[in-house]
Amino acid sequence: MPEPITIATWPFGRSAVQAAMKALAKGEPALDAALAGAQAVEDDTSIRNSVGFGSLPDRLGRLTLDACLMDGRTLACGAVACVEHIRHVAALAKRVMEKTPHVLLVGEAAKWFALQQGFPLEVPYTAESIKEWLDAHPDLKKKGEKQPEKPIAADGASDINVNEFNHDTVTVLSLDAKGHLGGVCTTSGLAYKLPGRVGDSPIIGAGLYVDDEAGAAGATGVGEEIIRIGGSLFIAEQMRGGKSPQEACELACKRANAAAGRRGVHPARVAFLALDRKGNVGAAATEKTNFQYAVGRGEKVELLKAKEIGPTA
Ligand code: ASP
Repeated sequence: MPEPITIATWPFGRSAVQAAMKALAKGEPALDAALAGAQAVEDDTSIRNSVGFGSLPDRLGRLTLDACLMDGRTLACGAVACVEHIRHVAALAKRVMEKTPHVLLVGEAAKWFALQQGFPLEVPYTAESIKEWLDAHPDLKKKGEKQPEKPIAADGASDINVNEFNHDTVTVLSLDAKGHLGGVCTTSGLAYKLPGRVGDSPIIGAGLYVDDEAGAAGATGVGEEIIRIGGSLFIAEQMRGGKSPQEACELACKRANAAAGRRGVHPARVAFLALDRKGNVGAAATEKTNFQYAVGRGEKVELLKAKEIGPTA
């Protein structure tokens, strides 16, 4: 039997790992453990630039959330995107998986589904997040104008930079004592995104992919670049073909760099992590992402820095 393990993106992944490891210690399945971990981060409004309520909104000041999850044993999966006023979007993605024949529900309709499922409607803003949004839009504050001064370029990634102040995703991958894998990804997306923009995080195969027969993989960073290369499915398929989680993550970074190079946009800003059924862990990021991830085995939780892969690697 494998030793249970959980890995999660970014330093706030520590609290995700702690919550997931507690659930695994009680014998919960990997998917439920990863969900408990993701929800711990969704509930933490002190993570201001990040996942869940209180994080940075879109260009119009509206906070919309995206999430997905996947069970490695059955390949069951569910997702929601662009959902406003619902706090626990990862749990909502699980309802999509369990209660509908579909994988992905979006926007207002996803919100109605949440209401039907008994989720409360809540105000997702905090005093700090409103202040932060106003500070980022000084012209709005001064003149009451409706348009931000610099819209995101229509081709998506070209002027999007991910740094420690605007990345927003917790991806949690768990391996349970029975040897099954489960993963959850939840985010408010890129800060100040165009309204309606959906990144990789709720897209199965881009922000997350989990298959017991291959491995589990998840992503963070500029979603447009991750979608373009089908990042998490790419990593899972590399593992299926015999690559280690580490090798597979590094190959995904090379592919993202090559894709950015073909469009004349360097460097790519993406990071990946992966876990196989033997408990082997991998993580890699493109240059200057300063990507850190949390790893929990037993009661020990470590924060590690991922290897960075430059455009010439
Ligand atoms: N991948 C997320 C998105 O593009 C953002 C992030 O992880 O920083 O929505």
